[in-house]
Amino acid sequence: MEEMFSYVDQLGPEKIIHVYQPDLDLKAVLVVDNTAAGPALGGVRMAPDVTTEECVRLARAMTFKNAAVGLAHGGGKLVVLADPKMARSAKEKLIRALAKSLANVEEYIFAPDMGTDEQCMAWIKDEIGRVVGLPREVGGIPLDEIGATGWGLSQATKIAAEFCLLPLAGARLVVQGFGAVGKHVARFLSDEGALLVGVADSRGALYDPAGLDVEALIRLKETGAGVIDFAEGKKLDREAVIDLECDIWIPAARPDVIHQGNVSRLQTKLVIEGANIPFSREAENLLHQQGVLCVPDFIANAGGVICAALEYQGACESAVLQTITEKISANTRMVLEKSRDQQVTPREAAQELALNRIVKAMSYRRWSR
Ligand code: NAD
Repeated sequence: MEEMFSYVDQLGPEKIIHVYQPDLDLKAVLVVDNTAAGPALGGVRMAPDVTTEECVRLARAMTFKNAAVGLAHGGGKLVVLADPKMARSAKEKLIRALAKSLANVEEYIFAPDMGTDEQCMAWIKDEIGRVVGLPREVGGIPLDEIGATGWGLSQATKIAAEFCLLPLAGARLVVQGFGAVGKHVARFLSDEGALLVGVADSRGALYDPAGLDVEALIRLKETGAGVIDFAEGKKLDREAVIDLECDIWIPAARPDVIHQGNVSRLQTKLVIEGANIPFSREAENLLHQQGVLCVPDFIANAGGVICAALEYQGACESAVLQTITEKISANTRMVLEKSRDQQVTPREAAQELALNRIVKAMSYRRWSR
């Protein structure tokens, strides 16, 4: 019995639900971590190697992200053990069955994550209705199309740049990853006068100290080409993006890209974390000791989840960017002030901010008495 509760601490998880349907080979785990602030919002991840432990960690990360940003939502996650590239018809059956099996778990709101998309969310809406990240035709706000996360990152960058006395006009920017997050943050920051000097995708890196044409690069990527197919700039191995001298370095590709073994290669003044957990704690601590400002993922990259929460409330698209600006600017400022005044890392400051909000929200609930 004790072993069954090995994941539990003072915040959660409130529920861990195992879903199994043999005829479809549907195997999934839902973790509702903490719902003190409201129903748990967190994506459905489909991958052939997901585990319950990973789901518990991802659900907790959503509790912190949603609390840090001040949403009326707790955190949760749903993992499905399957190949996301399966035939569309098989995926539809699986997703519909999953939605039906969790129809009564009202404290969890479905959302897209790796391996699921807005079409999957539309099937869930058709079955049970409790879902965000929908196609526009059924009331969704397409967050990757409008660049919600990239917009939030650009707002975090603006505030953080003030803290390191860095004017954005002419600041040299390097972005690792040029997908939904990376291309939009590059676009928004170049609108502010920053110069994109380096960029990487999965096929390679591109460098031009005079600045790359962001719009032309986005057009090229839309054809399916890689950044190294761009006519201008120096072509490099994708790992070389770590070595490029710049003022702002933004990871927007994958987790765990910077660690103790390679952090000393970075030559930047500011890091804004676009991907989830792109840096190890040790790497963040080393940067902090060297005076490099590092805005943690769950503060900087919350634009997408803010957009999802607004969609759930039925807000219109025009409200999204304004709300992201307000929330992410205020949070970034609060975290960086706390970090400076209390001599702690920005992540420690952010975690304390989020934890205080979760504990306060829990104190308002009947079961806390
Ligand atoms: P995406 O698939 O649209 O883009 C990923 C990009 O990274 C692609 O350009 C890909 O070529 C590149 N890439 C992959 N491996 C790489 C490598 N080893 N080196 C350099 N580039 C590499 O994904 P996305 O939606 O832009 O998400 C990027 C990251 O941000 C992910 O970690 C995701 O979990 C996180 N995130 C996304 C959102 C969102 O709103 N989409 C919100 C919060 C966090």
